[in-house]
Amino acid sequence: MREKFPVFDLHCDTATELSLQKKSLGSNDLHIDLDRADRLLTHHQFYAFCCVYDRAFQPLPASEAQSQFLRAVSDFYSQISENNQRVKLCRNAEDLIAAAKEAKQGAFLSLEGPEAIGCDPDRLDELKDLGFLMTTLTWNFPNALAGPHGTDLGLTDLGKAFVRRAQELGIVIDVSHLSEKAFWDLIDVTAAPIVASHSNSRVICPHTRNLTDEQFKVICNLGGLVGLNLYPPFLNEKGSADFSDIKRHLDHFLALGGEHRLAIGGDLDGCDCLPTGFTGVESWNDLGRWLLQQGMEEETVNSVFNNNAVMFALKHLQKKRVGG
Ligand SMILES: [Zn+2]
Repeated sequence: MREKFPVFDLHCDTATELSLQKKSLGSNDLHIDLDRADRLLTHHQFYAFCCVYDRAFQPLPASEAQSQFLRAVSDFYSQISENNQRVKLCRNAEDLIAAAKEAKQGAFLSLEGPEAIGCDPDRLDELKDLGFLMTTLTWNFPNALAGPHGTDLGLTDLGKAFVRRAQELGIVIDVSHLSEKAFWDLIDVTAAPIVASHSNSRVICPHTRNLTDEQFKVICNLGGLVGLNLYPPFLNEKGSADFSDIKRHLDHFLALGGEHRLAIGGDLDGCDCLPTGFTGVESWNDLGRWLLQQGMEEETVNSVFNNNAVMFALKHLQKKRVGG
């Protein structure tokens, strides 16, 4: 039986936590560090920056959100350069190819909550220059761009301008956390594939953070990706979960034709609890082995854990800018 699996995870909150807790990317007691990620066959990771709420999950004042964000980015750059023998900041597909050649982990940057740049379309150039390749339109609070899950608020005119400018710059729109209304408003205007970086199936677990079958299918048809989230409350209604809950979401999305569109977005370091048997980034190997034991094809596990996200990155995270 195989021991190691390749992993390309679309969402974690590790970078934000490293900055807030003054910890090291190389080795720490969080869910992700480079030491444990090195136990995987390969590891590429979107590191999300979520600077929207305080420790009591109340909205941060705008100026504090923006300064916390810039501090977290600067701290993460320092962590990357301290560990540049084994991790590479990937600003585009070419960097991913280089990371693979140098046998390094790839670190990709994404924004979770555009409050960190004042919800300002004119600041997306700045975001792109910082190396960011993906952004959500909301976290869990309504903002000037759109409404979050659990509300019936849609996409505003400013939100539409934000989407247009992001897509011109080659920044991917991440629909996780978005309301259903805003999601469908977005579908009317999107000019590029979209990603739900860390969302599960609402049929399997009826949480507003999860996707309906119709949402999943339109993301697939647009050539986007959906990343499976490990957070137990998004896996089932019991509050605790295990590998079989993850597999139920996986099987459901595969049955909808998601073989080439399904990925993982573990939400590591964004969850206060994980499924039984999952302790951190190293546990993708355990989940992979378990899925093979359950009879899942090796090719399917590789596609979901890694290959679909790699193919998406190579195709859509290009160096060139459209429209300046
Ligand atoms: Zn999130």
